Amino acid sequence: GIVASLTQQSMLTIWHSNMEVEQSYIMIKPDGVQRGLVGEIISRFEKKGFLLKGLKLFQCSKDLAQEHYKDLKDKPFFPTLIEYITSGPVVCMAWEGDGVVASARKLIGATNPLQAEPGTIRGDLAVQTGRNVVHGSDSPDNGKREIALWFKEGELCQWESVQTPWLVE
Ligand code: ADP
Repeated sequence: GIVASLTQQSMLTIWHSNMEVEQSYIMIKPDGVQRGLVGEIISRFEKKGFLLKGLKLFQCSKDLAQEHYKDLKDKPFFPTLIEYITSGPVVCMAWEGDGVVASARKLIGATNPLQAEPGTIRGDLAVQTGRNVVHGSDSPDNGKREIALWFKEGELCQWESVQTPWLVE
């Protein structure tokens, strides 16, 4: 009855909160915000079935942008990349789910939007590498690192979606 199913629900909650579920840091870059693509981009991850754990509109500092892209600091485009990322607010998101990191990269598409497949975010919505509207972590470890970098303690929400049993067996 209701008691049994509530007990099962809370046991599931305890089990989930102890599990380390994969998370990806997804960010709508300043061009995506300026071009009014925020809803469209969030919608693709929502509809896919990943769980939104954190979301904010945020103007980032040069220091934060440099830390985020530190692996690219020797690239010739690094200074313009930092200028681009700090040129206006971005939308920071933490998305959760098994396999979310690799799947989000597929949803986002190739770095160069002209090479990105139609149906991907960059393939559908952008034309240049230097204005490719969205970022997605490239490994689960970087997902963790980037979420810790862009979100403060308490900015992520612990919650269960009513959709979960309809998405995963
Ligand atoms: P991705 O974002 O697809 O993981 P990278 O990690 O290689 O791609 O690069 C990070 C970001 O740096 C890209 O999304 C893009 O905004 C920028 N970038 C990469 N290569 C270039 C380039 N050749 N010219 C200008 N910007 C670039």
